[in-house]
Amino acid sequence: AAGLMWFRRDLRAHDNVALAQALRHCARVHAVFVFDRPILDPLPRQDRRVSFIRESLVQLDEALRTLAGSAQAGLIVRHAAAADEVPRLARELRVQAVFANHDDEPAALARDAGVRAALTAAGIALHTFKDHTIFERREVLTQAGTPFSVFTPYQRAWLAKADDVDFEPHAVEPHAHALADRPATYGRPVPLLSEIGFEPAALPIPAGIEGASKLLENFAERIDRYHELRDFPALRGPSYLGVHLRFGTLSIRQAAGAARQRAARGSAGAATWLKELIWREFYFQILANFAHVADASGGSHSFRREYDAIEWERGPGADALFAAWCEGRTGYPLVDAAMRQLASTGYMHNRLRMVAASFLCKDLGLDWRSGERWFARLLNDFELASNNGGWQWASSSGCDAQPWFRIFNPVTQSRRFDTDGRFIRRYVPELAGLEGAALHAPWTASSAQLAQAGVRLGLDYPRPVVDHAAARERTLRRYAVVKAAA
Ligand code: FAD
Repeated sequence: AAGLMWFRRDLRAHDNVALAQALRHCARVHAVFVFDRPILDPLPRQDRRVSFIRESLVQLDEALRTLAGSAQAGLIVRHAAAADEVPRLARELRVQAVFANHDDEPAALARDAGVRAALTAAGIALHTFKDHTIFERREVLTQAGTPFSVFTPYQRAWLAKADDVDFEPHAVEPHAHALADRPATYGRPVPLLSEIGFEPAALPIPAGIEGASKLLENFAERIDRYHELRDFPALRGPSYLGVHLRFGTLSIRQAAGAARQRAARGSAGAATWLKELIWREFYFQILANFAHVADASGGSHSFRREYDAIEWERGPGADALFAAWCEGRTGYPLVDAAMRQLASTGYMHNRLRMVAASFLCKDLGLDWRSGERWFARLLNDFELASNNGGWQWASSSGCDAQPWFRIFNPVTQSRRFDTDGRFIRRYVPELAGLEGAALHAPWTASSAQLAQAGVRLGLDYPRPVVDHAAARERTLRRYAVVKAAA
């Protein structure tokens, strides 16, 4: 039989469940990636993720050819609506089955249902597999058989269940000879960005399978101190592997398996990192089991439905505050540094995601969904489930979220997590001359301090767009509808 491997968020040739299955069951396997127009068309012409994907496809194509031992093998890449293109290609290549790994975003599930129907009508099967998580959907449940909505018991159940999991890679080599040559008429393997209407964007981290393994190697030297360093944005504490987990250039079995082994040997850093990977799966299963949090057309709703009654600021004043937040000119240096890091690199440190998100909804009084959309547009590692979960954590509307009356003080956070101001100075250079408390809250600086640092408040750097203490009071009143409903 012949098969078609459809790559989506699993851009690697090794330890890939659907690929391993296709090779095992089919005598001839073609491989395709479709730059899916419904996803790509609304994006700005310069998008770091599209650059990341293209670079990763070049490496995937190379890896497939090496695996097949044939220069004629490799990836077929298309730029079209995947929902039409995949069934069309499957018919054209005369395959009996299409193989793919799960993508549980609501829009992807809807697309796949359409593909399945079209394939079935043509007598072609669609086989899909779990690949991007250790556990998915309803695999980890409470004793009552219901999905978890609290993290700690979920983590406990996850860890217990993981004892029975085989973290070994799904071997593709034994059947690699099944990889078919690309039909000669199919042209260049991976199109240039310009051919799909995009411009190259600078990436802050290396892409593709090679980039993932470089970062993983580098992180292996730092993982034991992860728990101590991870909260300080000026330090190289985290792994920066988010984007690789998002596009599957890194296998979750490899990442979680290594962390688990190292944690078992007593590494507190590895245990903490594994916990973060479990948070990722926690939010995946929230999205899968509580479908109201995000719908296929991109709308998000509070996990705790009563939070949708909150009235957020609206109108031109609110629009101006939102623009100040997006552009990193709120007058709160740590928030601004965070937002500028996001805009200029596509990355934002986890501590800062929490601070910036809390600031949007609890200092500016703006709907968390506007922030969620902004992050979705810019984050290299944008993951619908984690982004929605993170925003709902910060706005208190989520499962296991920050309580609504707990409100981050952006200045205290700044003093605690960027004490010497190294991170702020990197992204808000106009304040570099300020020292100590003044750097965290320039409006409290004396005119002599400001003059010495060459900072004219309101000209070189904005005055705060809101007063935190007053905003805090407004927020407590705003959230009172939730208390009333509880
Ligand atoms: P590391 O600290 O090295 O963590 C390793 C991996 O664990 C991450 O790559 C990620 O896959 C996972 N992880 C870590 N923390 C979390 C978490 N709290 N929730 C879920 N998974 C986690 N993460 C995303 O992957 N995509 C998003 O779109 C996203 N949006 C967020 C929005 C907000 C408002 C908040 C507060 C958090 C968000 N996170 C998101 C979670 C977290 O901030 C990032 O995963 C992390 O900063 C990525 O950097 P890293 O790869 O260096 O992480």
